[in-house]
Amino acid sequence: MNPPGPRFWEIFFEVYENLPRQGPGNRACAARALGLCRELPECPAVLDLGCGVGGQTLQLAELTSGSIVAIDSHAPSIKRLNAVVAERGLSQRVSALVGNMARPGQPPGVFDLIWSEGALYNIGLRDALRVCHGLLRPGGYLAFTDAIWRKENPPPEVKAGFDLDYPAMGWLDDDVAAVRECGFELVGHFTLPDEAWWDHFYTPMETRIAELRGRYAGDAEASALLDQLAKEPELHRRYSDFYAYEFFVARRTLGQSHPETTEALEQDAPADGPRTAAETRR
Ligand code: SAH
Repeated sequence: MNPPGPRFWEIFFEVYENLPRQGPGNRACAARALGLCRELPECPAVLDLGCGVGGQTLQLAELTSGSIVAIDSHAPSIKRLNAVVAERGLSQRVSALVGNMARPGQPPGVFDLIWSEGALYNIGLRDALRVCHGLLRPGGYLAFTDAIWRKENPPPEVKAGFDLDYPAMGWLDDDVAAVRECGFELVGHFTLPDEAWWDHFYTPMETRIAELRGRYAGDAEASALLDQLAKEPELHRRYSDFYAYEFFVARRTLGQSHPETTEALEQDAPADGPRTAAETRR
């Protein structure tokens, strides 16, 4: 299959940027995962990696009293999140930055909590876990979601979809092994319920696609691309028992470090602790 061309990405972002979230997840799941982080300080230093337009960032701002740095590589999503942050008067606590989670430019060993919903896989789960390990203080928590297989022999369309987006996708045991082998203790995990796929992701996606079908009625290429994007929620409706999104909560083991990761992080990070929202706006 050919890699998607520029028109695909144009239509893709026209659909995705307008959704409340760019992946499955909801507030109840975020609250449940946060509840597993039992020994967080009262005002934790939080880093949200691959925040998208910030659905979960804003929930974390409500669910914690901490300071939150949210990073995403897609500038329009960050712009949208920063506008909402300002509108809600959260600018002192929440700061959204364009950046690459592989080299997030944050100081090592200082975060109490790293959050990442549906995003770590973009740089490879194990590489992402090593980055997170380097950024967390010993005993700090990592809460992330990841897609996993849960039934053998998926239909070819389902397999093809994930082969394109997440070819290295594994099973629950693979993720658990990765977590442990990258210097974390697994605190707990649970499967996202079906409403976490629909309420803020696939239902708004289908509405948005229907809207754009009207706008692009005379444009055969755009209509075909919208058909292609509409397949994902449709396949989920039929075949969601073959795969799942799992929420993992892990804890950086006390006293263990990965020197190579820490060195890499130090090169482009300020040395004096996590950036506060006020500092990052300067
Ligand atoms: N956490 C959000 C978005 C998930 S979609 C939610 O659950 O709604 C995955 C996000 O990761 C996208 O917004 C994408 O732009 C971002 N992303 C992909 N690669 C990245 C990278 N290397 N660094 C930072 N963000 C990245």
